[in-house]
Amino acid sequence: MNIYFDNNATTSVALEVLEAMLPYLKEAYGNPSTAYSFGRKVRDSVERARGQVASLIGAKEEEIIFTSSGTESDNTAIMSALRFKNAGKHIVTTAVEHPAVLNLCKYLQTFGYTYTELPVDNAGMIDLDYMAQIIDANTAILSIMYANNETGVIFPIDKISRIASSKNVVLHTDAVQAVGKLPINVNDLGVQMLSISGHKLHAPKGVGALYVKKGTEFYPYIIGGHQENGRRAGTENVAAIVGLGKACDIAKTFLDSETLKVQHLRDRLEAGLLNKCSNTIVNGASSPRLSNTSNISFAYVDGEAILMMLDKEGIYASSGSACSSGSGQPSHVLRAMNIPQEYIRSSVRFSLSPYNSEEEVDALIGILPQLIERLRHISFLRGN
Ligand code: PLP
Repeated sequence: MNIYFDNNATTSVALEVLEAMLPYLKEAYGNPSTAYSFGRKVRDSVERARGQVASLIGAKEEEIIFTSSGTESDNTAIMSALRFKNAGKHIVTTAVEHPAVLNLCKYLQTFGYTYTELPVDNAGMIDLDYMAQIIDANTAILSIMYANNETGVIFPIDKISRIASSKNVVLHTDAVQAVGKLPINVNDLGVQMLSISGHKLHAPKGVGALYVKKGTEFYPYIIGGHQENGRRAGTENVAAIVGLGKACDIAKTFLDSETLKVQHLRDRLEAGLLNKCSNTIVNGASSPRLSNTSNISFAYVDGEAILMMLDKEGIYASSGSACSSGSGQPSHVLRAMNIPQEYIRSSVRFSLSPYNSEEEVDALIGILPQLIERLRHISFLRGN
């Protein structure tokens, strides 16, 4: 039995996506920049994919730049804004961003930039009034994630964009966990830049996209050839781009029904575990959350021990984010939420996809409470 509950770390490539990609790994291997028909056909497929990505988020085709990842999209957005004419040297972000944003900000400090990490409350939410106070004449960009990868907490990007525009500051949102899970229209959101990653929505790893609103100043991050209209150099990863386009197409068609399905599974999982396990809390539960994400703390047990025992049963989940697990560091997101140490240490993130089933959720509910009891018993005997 293999049960995969770690879809915020990465997703399986959908079969339809794989099938759409295969010709570009086989016979259709032309370079999209070449002028002859063999290459032009490949170019057309890249442009079709651009249209599919644009369509999922209500953008125009020319507003989509393909990149190698969500990380590259985040880096590109921030680095571009810092080069705007008369740009300030201050970045405003949140304490719960992905390292793709936070570590870049930290790195930029060594070049004379400063940044503010907006704190979050116990429910994982930022204070918009405080955010408005923090933005000053030196602020070059606001980079605020759409949905958190560890807790699923959703930030009110539409409200944030109104504040940003009243202060005349460019707004970037890392929507890596939101695209394909929430209905998104960039015009309603009011952002100037938005990051997407393929492998979070059943496309392959190593492809992403950056939405840049028409009329927004833009400076490329990867310098070289003229690909992507001079906005991102490097020969296109055609098969992966085609895969991303197809995944966006599928997400657009099935978003509503799949969101309902996943939410039903997530609610069943939470109800089942909370009912059977004492001293258990769902982190971020009182905030708007992605329908697929459940970050649960089982007090007095080590989250890593839970994961190891689940692994033996063929069930895969994550403690904190996949990027920070293994680092031995307690989750920066839960710490920022001021979750008690005991609950941080014992947190497990379950992130579902439409490919999960009720049977899988029930299998978890059947196994995990006993494991928790056993671990608590061992920990009690050891006097921890
Ligand atoms: N931003 C968020 C919120 C993420 O969850 C991730 C990946 O976990 C990234 C950015 C980085 O995306 P990628 O893995 O495509 O570089």
